[in-house]
Amino acid sequence: MQPLPKDYNFAEIEAKWQRKWEEMGVYRFDWNDTKRKAYTIDTPPPYPSGDLHMGNVLNWTYFDIVARYERMRGFNVLFPQGWDCHGLSIEVQAEKTHGLRKRDVPPDVFRKWCIEIVDKYIALMKEGVVRLGCSIDWKTEYRTMDPDYWRRTQLSFILLHKKGFMYQGTHPVNWCPRCETAIADAEVDYERREGTLHYIHFPLENNSQFLLIATTRPEFIPACVAVAVNPKDERFNCYVGKKINVPLSNRLVNIIADEMVDCTFGTGVVMICTFGDKEDVKTVMRHQLPTIALITETGRISEVGGKYAGLSIKQAREAIVKDLTDAGLLERTEHLQQEVGLCDRCKTHVEILSRKQWFMKTRALTDKVVETADKVTWYPDYMKTRLTDWAQSLDWDWVISRQRVFATPIPVWYCKTCGEPILAEEEWVPIDPKLEPPRIKKCPKCGGTEFVGERDVFDTWMDSSITCAVHAGWPDRKDWRRLFPADVHPSGIDIIRTWAYYLMVRHLALFDETPYKACLINGMVLGSDGRKMSKSLKNYVAAPQVLDKYGSDATRQWAAAGGTTGSDIPFRWPDVEYGRRFLVKLWNVSGFAARLLADYNPTSSAECTLEPLDRWVLSKAARLVEKVTAAMERCEFNVAVEETRNFAWHTFCDCYVEAVKDRLYRSETYGEAKKRGAQKALYETLYTVLQLLAPIIPHVTEEIYQAMYADAKRCMSLQLSPWPDVKDWVDDAAEQRGDVIIALISAVRREKAERHLPLNTPIKRLVVCAEEKDAADTVKAGRDDVVGACKVENLEVNVGKGAGREVPDCPGVWFSAEY
Ligand SMILES: [Zn+2]
Ligand SMILES: [Zn+2]
Repeated sequence: MQPLPKDYNFAEIEAKWQRKWEEMGVYRFDWNDTKRKAYTIDTPPPYPSGDLHMGNVLNWTYFDIVARYERMRGFNVLFPQGWDCHGLSIEVQAEKTHGLRKRDVPPDVFRKWCIEIVDKYIALMKEGVVRLGCSIDWKTEYRTMDPDYWRRTQLSFILLHKKGFMYQGTHPVNWCPRCETAIADAEVDYERREGTLHYIHFPLENNSQFLLIATTRPEFIPACVAVAVNPKDERFNCYVGKKINVPLSNRLVNIIADEMVDCTFGTGVVMICTFGDKEDVKTVMRHQLPTIALITETGRISEVGGKYAGLSIKQAREAIVKDLTDAGLLERTEHLQQEVGLCDRCKTHVEILSRKQWFMKTRALTDKVVETADKVTWYPDYMKTRLTDWAQSLDWDWVISRQRVFATPIPVWYCKTCGEPILAEEEWVPIDPKLEPPRIKKCPKCGGTEFVGERDVFDTWMDSSITCAVHAGWPDRKDWRRLFPADVHPSGIDIIRTWAYYLMVRHLALFDETPYKACLINGMVLGSDGRKMSKSLKNYVAAPQVLDKYGSDATRQWAAAGGTTGSDIPFRWPDVEYGRRFLVKLWNVSGFAARLLADYNPTSSAECTLEPLDRWVLSKAARLVEKVTAAMERCEFNVAVEETRNFAWHTFCDCYVEAVKDRLYRSETYGEAKKRGAQKALYETLYTVLQLLAPIIPHVTEEIYQAMYADAKRCMSLQLSPWPDVKDWVDDAAEQRGDVIIALISAVRREKAERHLPLNTPIKRLVVCAEEKDAADTVKAGRDDVVGACKVENLEVNVGKGAGREVPDCPGVWFSAEY
């Protein structure tokens, strides 16, 4: 037992343990240990953005608590760490940093720029993760931009291609004209914006009449391939089958009937353009209409746009509106609120383009996804529908090819003669088909000998959607199935539709098995103003700022206590300050305990008498263990931290320690055996509190453990100590008796405070009267602590109705003090 320094220096303690834990290998997963059961966390490899934000802190604190808790439960915990490096956002930053576009430099130079940015960002984020005290096994660290990771992504593609899940096709896809690439539905953000509805005359063929069409996108008029009305709409169904003029273009198109036309929107007559929006795509497919590729990959009007060719979309809109006005075809305009799809990386308006792409057959798996999601445990439960609703809402298969540079290459070549795609063999990967030829001499179809490598690359989600298998050791370890499916996949509420979904479809397709047994969801961090925390709203707090000021243990308490799992939680400085105050309280009571336990030997056979309050506090601690364990099992971290803090602060410090101080200090009055009783309860209760808090505030609890307990408890780290199992301490009778004694002591002390007397003012005579004999016996049994805590010279306990004040919370017990 070593004394603790007087002051709690969090910066020093936290840095010390972060270093030591790593040196001691406390968080290493033991691949050779087959005795202990393994527990695997599917750590989502973060996208290295450079900033560790409070959302990361929330997310990481959640799963670090799980990792630490399961370790103490005796599991061999695999807590890996990777970095999801590829993606548009890094490319956009590389372009900005160098003031050039990706196509202005050779791909290898552009890749190098991207890698430099990612390296810098990983270093920054890693520092933050270490400072937060995450119990990661750093030996498992990986980066998806390394060819060794490409190998896994490419292999998964080859296997899925063989199983028939991958195909190439020309289908409409979401397209970002700024990033010049296809993007998936999950990468489209929807925002409400003010738009303009244009009411335009479409003249009927051979007729002076016209139909009025309302559209927010008049620039698409050159791509109009039909006009549709609802067949039930009696205003217009007489026109079905007739032809109508497309304004400004001298083309006739058919008027078609389509039940999907909303009679109440605009005029009830709509133009079908290829492709103005997703509805157009559906209508074109239903009616097998021709397509007109009006928009180019860079977001300009193509040559089919005639006089508008070469204009940007915005310029084309202005020109067309002007021409319609001049021709007298624009009747009026009105404003409206509309949802527009934006590229989630650069916020550019997303267009729909048809171009040859690679797809994964994800829609074929929708029923399976829904069925499997049902078997997964969700924390909290209602998050499941976020996944199933999303899966069921998808109209299109997942487009997995991207027209970018910084990503895993698609391992495919094409025969120059016949165009046949040549897929890499499993043992060829990792490979970049832009730099290396296929390892076959002839095209299997035509015998051609020249090949051209695929230039498209994979969507970055192709890398990060196989992590459950990769973490388990797939494809290199024969025994990877032992660690698969992952025990828990933690995720933010905002990425269920991407991360949880893509993991699910890919692993179902590859292995026909769920990738994770449970899904732990965290909400968003809100600013102190209740809005989502964001730099643009000026309510942003950077994580390092919080860690500098209050340290990790205080910050982690904010994350754990902030709200129920899955709910959005606000960041408030006072919550972190409260965490800090709790740490100081815990530090001070531990320092006090270390002094009073200096002569205590937990293994000694010397006589040790437990007084009623000792049994009381041990029983309360046992109940606390029950509650906290149940909360941890349900991932209710806020319950775990609040219950433990309340117990430590109030039951333990304010009630128990205050009541038994005298017994600890003055063995000459009470005897060695009773002192040892208090020492035992103090020692064991504090240890239990430290253990329950170890997953939440690992640094301070480790520091106290090493000073006070390591010698006797013989665990290298508190983190490796077995989770408390103290059911034996439960004692209903002791709890009832202790409640009476504590209530009496508190009432007497409160009376002193009301009289403005110092708490150590002696009481000459304290008369306690209890209506019930049991209550009187209880007070007599607790005599030592009542006398000690209240400084009573003479305690008299009587049965019967008495004078004086009734003890609050103890009906039928009265006391009167004479000073
Ligand atoms: Zn974009
Ligand atoms: Zn060929």
